[in-house]
Amino acid sequence: MIPGGLSMGFDSIDRLEVDNSYADLPPVFYTRLAPQPLTQPRLLHANADVAALLDLAPEALRRPEFLEVCAGQRPLQGGKTLAAVYSGHQFGVWAGQLGDGRAHLLGEVRTAHGPMELQLKGSGRTPYSRMGDGRAVLRSSVREYLAGEAMAGLGIPTTRALALVVSDDPVYRETVETAAVITRVAPSFVRFGSFEHWHDAPQNLRALLDYVIAHFYPECLGAEGEGGPHAPALRMLGTVVRRTAELVAAWQTVGFCHGVMNTDNMSILGLTLDYGPYGFMDAFQVRHVCNHSDTQGRYAWNAQPAVAHWNLYRLANSLLALGIEPEALKQELQQFEDAFLQAYRRRMLDKFGLRQWQDGDAELIDGWWRLLHENRADFTLSFRKLAGAQRDAVPFLDLFIDREAAQAWLSRYLDRAGGEGGTAAEREMAMDRVNPLYVLRNHLAEQAIRAAKQGDAGEIETLLMLLRDPCTPRAGYEQYAALPPDWANGLELSCSS
Ligand code: AMP
Ligand code: MG
Repeated sequence: MIPGGLSMGFDSIDRLEVDNSYADLPPVFYTRLAPQPLTQPRLLHANADVAALLDLAPEALRRPEFLEVCAGQRPLQGGKTLAAVYSGHQFGVWAGQLGDGRAHLLGEVRTAHGPMELQLKGSGRTPYSRMGDGRAVLRSSVREYLAGEAMAGLGIPTTRALALVVSDDPVYRETVETAAVITRVAPSFVRFGSFEHWHDAPQNLRALLDYVIAHFYPECLGAEGEGGPHAPALRMLGTVVRRTAELVAAWQTVGFCHGVMNTDNMSILGLTLDYGPYGFMDAFQVRHVCNHSDTQGRYAWNAQPAVAHWNLYRLANSLLALGIEPEALKQELQQFEDAFLQAYRRRMLDKFGLRQWQDGDAELIDGWWRLLHENRADFTLSFRKLAGAQRDAVPFLDLFIDREAAQAWLSRYLDRAGGEGGTAAEREMAMDRVNPLYVLRNHLAEQAIRAAKQGDAGEIETLLMLLRDPCTPRAGYEQYAALPPDWANGLELSCSS
């Protein structure tokens, strides 16, 4: 620190102000234990942006204790390392107890933006590992590392990651891969499944609820006794319903498919959580499924809003154990559709450069998705090139096989946009500020993975630079905004990670 209150950041991770409020919950909520360190861990990448959030100076990332903490060799000073228990519904079926099977919560750092938890993923077995080896492979770790920053760059709520540590330790999946650990950062990793775990243990459920409300939703407390004893729980549920609806609306409008929307992967804070076989769509398909293990298409792009709502029902269901009236819970759940539609429409209007919702806009949007679907048009470039189509329609029309259909939709859109006031140039600028040019396409992540396997973090660095500010064109990086190459068609993502 320098005098005058201007913070330069702490020069060592050991100096952070650390606590672990989760460890104050009753011991049945977790197991205190140390990670199992990797052999000869190396820091492949440290994220300066997330470090800054934690008030860590750049030089802190180069010190040996930083690597040691992020490799699970050294506890976070002041933290109480633990693995948390939770349950969940996986692919619509009650899976019973799950929990941090390969993750360790190190503690929470006090920051100017509130407490931020640091959690290792891939850091070894815990009592919740079941058949798993407690490890994460480099491939999926690079993907999670990049995805958090891609989401943050798009302004979509997400967990993030501070560091990516690699080792030559073998990990056995379909083939032999190598191990990695990422250090994830979020205010909390509590999931819907953390509540579901206590669906028949009211005392523990109450303890978790009180913890989450006190730490993350204090505004739900209200005045003492106001609205009856269950009012804070209901207000919290309502808030989670709205946040989740807004989150999924944001996903839909950037073409993000989560891939594994199980209730244990749903954040109680409305963050995008647990990046596995996720995907940002290239060619638009309404029923696009990014996870090849999802043979039923349960988590297809168009299913995500309804799945989120279903997951919220599972969360609400667990609150019945507190003696809350089902009708009162249902009322909170019913806010989903309005909250989703409002957020979705606002985002679509912004993407189209339109100001006010008008009659006929639902049909305009419907026609848009149908046009993209029937032409398998690129999700990201279709929006991006629509902005310039007001000046020169050719680059936009070139994205579609059926140019006549594209022209017909475009004419309708231009009529609609022109009737609202404002110039085409203003609209184009506004649209270019919200429609990303660079998204984390699968093949871009794959290039970064291939380089990372050679110990080269250069592609990660390049992608982070582009994805942090995804709407701003950068000279020399045209291929990162281009359609995927042919080899990308063969990429398959499964739950294996
Ligand atoms: P996921 O599908 O990644 O959300 O994981 C579902 C559950 O399986 C969570 O409880 C994870 O902690 C656990 N899990 C996934 N992979 C492993 C692994 N390799 N070792 C131990 N537990 C795992
Ligand atoms: Mg998970």
